[in-house]
Amino acid sequence: MDAEDVLREVFGHPAFRAGQRAAVEAFAAGRDVTVRLPTGGGKSLCYQVPAILRARRDGVSTVVVSPLVALMDDQVAALRARGVSAVALHGSLDADTARRARAEAREASLIYVSPERLARPGARDALRRLGVGAVAVDEAHCLSQWGHDFRPDYLQLGALKAEWGVPVMALTATATDAVMADVRRVLGLVDPVVVDGEIERENLALRVELLRGHHERTARTVALLREAGLDRPGSGRAIVYAATRKRVTEVAAALRKEGFDADFYHGGRAASARENAASRFAEGRRTVMVATNAFGMGIDRPDVRLVVHVQAPESPEAYWQEAGRAGRDGLPSAAVLLYAPVDAVTRRRLWGRSPPAGALARWQALTDYAHATGCRQDWLRRWFGGAGSRACGRCDVCQRPDAVAAEVASARAERAEARASSTRKKAIEDSFVVESSHEQAVLDFVDGLRKPLGRRAVALALRGSRARDVVRRGLLHHPLHGALSEVPEAVILGIVDGLLASGRLAKRGRKYPTVWIPDKRVRAAAGSGPPRPPRLAGLAATLATWRARQAKSLRWKPYQVFPDATLRAIAETRPRDLASLEAVSGMGPKRVARFGTAILDLVAQDPSDG
Ligand code: ADP
Ligand code: MG
Ligand code: ZN
Repeated sequence: MDAEDVLREVFGHPAFRAGQRAAVEAFAAGRDVTVRLPTGGGKSLCYQVPAILRARRDGVSTVVVSPLVALMDDQVAALRARGVSAVALHGSLDADTARRARAEAREASLIYVSPERLARPGARDALRRLGVGAVAVDEAHCLSQWGHDFRPDYLQLGALKAEWGVPVMALTATATDAVMADVRRVLGLVDPVVVDGEIERENLALRVELLRGHHERTARTVALLREAGLDRPGSGRAIVYAATRKRVTEVAAALRKEGFDADFYHGGRAASARENAASRFAEGRRTVMVATNAFGMGIDRPDVRLVVHVQAPESPEAYWQEAGRAGRDGLPSAAVLLYAPVDAVTRRRLWGRSPPAGALARWQALTDYAHATGCRQDWLRRWFGGAGSRACGRCDVCQRPDAVAAEVASARAERAEARASSTRKKAIEDSFVVESSHEQAVLDFVDGLRKPLGRRAVALALRGSRARDVVRRGLLHHPLHGALSEVPEAVILGIVDGLLASGRLAKRGRKYPTVWIPDKRVRAAAGSGPPRPPRLAGLAATLATWRARQAKSLRWKPYQVFPDATLRAIAETRPRDLASLEAVSGMGPKRVARFGTAILDLVAQDPSDG
């Protein structure tokens, strides 16, 4: 019985697919092999057929390393249904089942094990005693730090080749040449036969849309699902991927509200809830699955017509693996990436303090893919080590090159403008010279409050904001509302912090800290009405009237002429020349140059002598 017979009689397939024959023959003949075939390309057969041949010939088992328990159980069930003896050994077996599984393993053609189990030397010894003739490492990219799914347990698999002295096959769908080099090195493969399949999927149309934020992308997802007919039964299934659990639940809720049969899946749900969601989707009781990348390694649902990424994934590898879950039945399908610049922020947050090795480069590559103006399928093919260049004719770039180029150009221009304006803003903040009048205005503002207020609300009100919080607190009527409209918010916050540090303002409360004048009592009957400015008399009243007139003709706020505290100080010190006027806190050379002589006149003409 040869490989061809096993393929036909056990699996019921008439012929090998591209790459399968070479892999099967090399592995059966005892060579090490690396297999890089697209998702859905039929990698399992590459080791299953040789495993069956080897078991019949030599009576030994082939150990298959597989990262997911659910995946192992699926494969074992499928093999048993075809009359092939197979068993899965994984941590979640109870003692009884485990004993039975070990007994079965002695007879099994294929033994599926988790990498965690193989990381234990004792477990490796026990397996060796059962009689192992070969090892297949599925999802082998997990052993590379340059891969997108690094699992430290995979590193222990390097011991297998030396300890068992058997042929090893490494299989993966999505790996760059650098990852493949890691695979060979870590597993210690000896002169492996390399089977590299064409990654192109002839039935898959790739698209990218450059959008702005979450809302736009949720709305777009709804439209895409409708276009694909997923609001009606009989149009297959869709998977919507998001980067965070929060977005997963938000998008799932939004889709349900729009009438879709949407379920959701992420690592934060209880195992049972997760499994229920997965099986409802698998059985077709739900047509749309919204999920993080926790969903799907190894899922093989034939009729997924559409995969939408509502947030960008971490790398081209992750993208291709997830997008590749569309159209596994060979029928026309689409994968749409909805990219927004904010995804870079999300990514940084997910990385935490520092990105893992290689993560930045992979992310950069993903953003390059999103902004590509050449064929997308070709971009990915070359990313995964493919040679030459060839247009697919199906992707958005192939179909509408000019429209895509225009969209990319405008997205880039928008980014550049945003960057320039934040640089400008920063420059203004940095070069802003804080005057004592600014500090005084902040102090006067707080003094004029009826109760303590958060520092940001202080800054907003001083800048003249009409934000809801400012309005709700009655701050529009505060006489200093807008007094520092020309001062950047960050600078005002800096002033507040400086005043807090020097003790001229006091901090109240812990959870929601507010600022207040030290030792000043908060009036018990503090209502919500506007605070009343103190009554002025004599020279102060004259100055206030003059100030109001000036402010009106200049279309300024009175406090931009000079603040209340300055007004009171002038009335008290009654300066007689420009130098002593300039010395009054809050005046400064600019105000003196503009209003100095007028103010000195008012002081000189005032009858009430201090
Ligand atoms: P991969 O692991 O590469 O993603 P699988 O091994 O899960 O892919 O196989 C994907 C599908 O292709 C399965 O349904 C399998 O039965 C089918 N398949 C594999 N090889 C052949 C073949 N030679 N002819 C027909 N169907 C095949
Ligand atoms: Mg597979
Ligand atoms: Zn193309």
